[in-house]
Amino acid sequence: MPKNRSARIPRATPPSKAVAMTPKPVAPFTHTHTLALAIGLLLAAIAAPAPRAHAADGWHDLFDGRSLNGWTANEKPGSFQVVDGAIVCNGPRSHLFYTGPLRGARFRDFEFEAEILARPGANSGVYFHTAFQEKDWLAKGYEVQVNGSATGDGGYREHKRTGSLYGIRNVHRTLVPDDQWFTLRIRVADKRVTVHVDDLLTVDYVEPNDAPDGGYRGRRLGEGTFALQCHDPGSRVLFRKVRVRDLGPHASGPRPDPSEYRIPPALAALHANNFPVVDLHTHLKGGLTLDDVLRRQHRTGINAGIAVNGGLGFPITNDAGLDRALAEIDHPLVYRALQGEGREWSRLFSPEVIARFDYVFTDAMTFSDDQGRRMRLWIPEEVHIDDPQAFMDLLVRRTVAILETEPIQVWVNPTFLPAALASRYDELWTEDRMRRVIEAAVKRGIAIEINDRFRIPSAAFVRQARQAGARFTFGTNNGGRDDLGNLDYCVTIIRECGLKWSDFWLPGRNRTP
Ligand SMILES: [Zn+2]
Repeated sequence: MPKNRSARIPRATPPSKAVAMTPKPVAPFTHTHTLALAIGLLLAAIAAPAPRAHAADGWHDLFDGRSLNGWTANEKPGSFQVVDGAIVCNGPRSHLFYTGPLRGARFRDFEFEAEILARPGANSGVYFHTAFQEKDWLAKGYEVQVNGSATGDGGYREHKRTGSLYGIRNVHRTLVPDDQWFTLRIRVADKRVTVHVDDLLTVDYVEPNDAPDGGYRGRRLGEGTFALQCHDPGSRVLFRKVRVRDLGPHASGPRPDPSEYRIPPALAALHANNFPVVDLHTHLKGGLTLDDVLRRQHRTGINAGIAVNGGLGFPITNDAGLDRALAEIDHPLVYRALQGEGREWSRLFSPEVIARFDYVFTDAMTFSDDQGRRMRLWIPEEVHIDDPQAFMDLLVRRTVAILETEPIQVWVNPTFLPAALASRYDELWTEDRMRRVIEAAVKRGIAIEINDRFRIPSAAFVRQARQAGARFTFGTNNGGRDDLGNLDYCVTIIRECGLKWSDFWLPGRNRTP
């Protein structure tokens, strides 16, 4: 998808008449009626093969495997070729629209399938409910993203991978290696869109009744045709076995409750504006299961990193325990994290096993004071505060030591204070204390979590950290099954501090050694 799209996205706007949700049965392509185009479409329709149904299962091929009959390219027709039974997209930006005779190229409730192969660094996509447009990125319809490894140009970093409903529900992990055929399946039934990459569900989206998510005015379900995207000359993507099946009566059945799928407009705006929305501090605690986490991801677009706690006094204290934990949270859609506990954790595990996690984090909530008294700051009976100022200086020293020496990529629960001091947070976290811990984190490229559960760090801290070049992550640190929310505090901080997508860190980028 376009690298500059985020700049063109308006803030979430109230629905206007122009995007009224009930689609009007307009003739296709009425807004692009040049004579040449009309003749071209007519010829394409005449030349197209009669749609063939497979047996009795209702599937119809949209691509005959030999020619582009039934398809119409805009802008740069040369960007599409048929080679060895596949449509090859490669060249300057252009879109290839299905304009053949099947259903008059107007599809509403359907299942779509295509086999796709993306070359390294390629960006492409499949649009549905779209309409012919002479040039530019397509305004109407939704796009399902194809992108295994394209990173974006210049200062832009693309955060949406194959299987994303582009800018609406994003996938951040690479699910299929480049150069490997996979099947993309899109199903639209009434207001519900599901996407599968091979057999893996990546998106379960129900379009809200009021405003389009994230302010994309053209992203409204109605009806329309399909389009394949040639994104740029550096991208080469192959499509074959492109077929569709009308759902008709199959689309009925229990209708999903939209309230179960609703997300706050501010979160939708993050999806639309290229923020990597990943709750990197999710624990399978209190009965929360991997399936629960995946359901939240499919429906809300909040991706997850699942963390296991390793350290003295925790169930996992050695490599064998980490091995078992890694297997339990192994799923292509989630990141796997180790949360180091206590200060001995990095000596309990081998670097080889630690390296199998996508990222490692710790907090500064467990340490011993100069008298050797071990404290866990969240347990009031263990906390010794003889003098608040001296305690803060100790906390800063311990935090800096952790950030300077432990093999981590993220500092979580940052600036946490024990309950006895929490009400004095703004006074005790002086600018100088903040500067010392921020400097230590920035020096080693350690990202700083914006923690939803404890609502820390403060906006003042985040502003100072950003100024110093720090990057941030989203994290809930849920204590059980029912406190995984919508990252409300993270959203608040983004707004208050004016953070951009580029202020955020994702596993796999800029790791510290
Ligand atoms: Zn945790």
